[in-house]
Amino acid sequence: AVWVSEVMLQQTQVATVIDYYNRWMQKWPTLQALAAASLEEVNELWAGLGYYSRGKRLQEAARKVVSQLAGRMPRTAEDLRKLLPGVGRYTAGAIASIAFGQATGVVDGNVIRVLCRLRCIGADSSSPAVIDRLWDMANALVDRSRPGDFNQALMELGATVCTPKAPLCGECPVKQYCRARHRKLFGKPTPVPDVEDCGAGDCPLCPKATEPWDSSLGVTNFPRKAAKKQPRAERTATCVLERRGRRGVPEYLIVQRPSSGLLAGLWEFPSLLLAPGLREEEQREVLADHLRAWTGQPVETGSLCFIGEVIHVFSHIHQTYVVYSLSLDGDMALDPASSPSRWVTEEEFHASAVSTAMKKVLRARERQRGEQSGRAKGSKRKRGAKSGAAGS
Ligand code: SF4
Repeated sequence: AVWVSEVMLQQTQVATVIDYYNRWMQKWPTLQALAAASLEEVNELWAGLGYYSRGKRLQEAARKVVSQLAGRMPRTAEDLRKLLPGVGRYTAGAIASIAFGQATGVVDGNVIRVLCRLRCIGADSSSPAVIDRLWDMANALVDRSRPGDFNQALMELGATVCTPKAPLCGECPVKQYCRARHRKLFGKPTPVPDVEDCGAGDCPLCPKATEPWDSSLGVTNFPRKAAKKQPRAERTATCVLERRGRRGVPEYLIVQRPSSGLLAGLWEFPSLLLAPGLREEEQREVLADHLRAWTGQPVETGSLCFIGEVIHVFSHIHQTYVVYSLSLDGDMALDPASSPSRWVTEEEFHASAVSTAMKKVLRARERQRGEQSGRAKGSKRKRGAKSGAAGS
């Protein structure tokens, strides 16, 4: 349970995780149950939580524990990291200290902030020198008798008191040790115990001379981060292909993504990454070509109905989906030689392993359908009004 919650909470807020966590633990309460699940089931449950490789690796690791480690979970941070796929330094420390009581520290975003402020560490907090020093500090500070409680308390301090923008220094239980607060109150740094050891001028922990203390920022001068890399922009043409299914209910074609890379193994509407600089007509042509491979029949560019653009930001990609729809009249034989594909109703779509981005695409299609039927009703009413007027 600690392992599952730690993995789900990476890059994801508690409020979002709770429902996923409860459903996961109900479905797979033991390592053995998780090891017996299929990747498809894991992806379905994970759908919408993002960073999909996390769920996949959790399950791979559970299988490894069951099949190669005789069902015995490694119990130290070193072994957890060494033996289990997807378990990094933080997750290993959290599981070992919280679940197994090992006196080992953890460093997450909250701990980075608290420790950088406590010690006025002003160099880039993502640099290896700073990260290594923070781990040394966390390992030295951790309470030997209650390491799990200590680590959670330190993270909670960062989440609730030593917050990024408006820290509550007056209420902080460690304020008397805090060098950033001292500097804010007294306008100068606390004296360094032995300046000879400091490596002044070339210190990998001190702020650069070009980034002096800004007194208007107070303690929020720390931590400092290197400028974030901008996500790269991509455009993808996607088509909501639909047909009338049984009892006239709309059905959509979804296809499975490759088993590695972004959104590995998830399902999506037929989509195609667009080369930069394509004009609208060219986009239609390449999408029509792509659809021909799925439908096995020619697709006229003019039959593609443009819906709009849907934007979804992944951690490193600013993705714009250029969305079209296409309604098919007859039945369509799916080519079993191409990647897996299937027709789904709206309900089945939402129960499938589809990303949040694809749910946004379907919402855009539904909005368009609503507008179209609104227009159709409006025009019917108008016609009726006309004929009434003519009659009178
Ligand atoms: Fe953070 Fe303020 Fe506490 Fe220092 S005194 S650790 S800056 S909340």
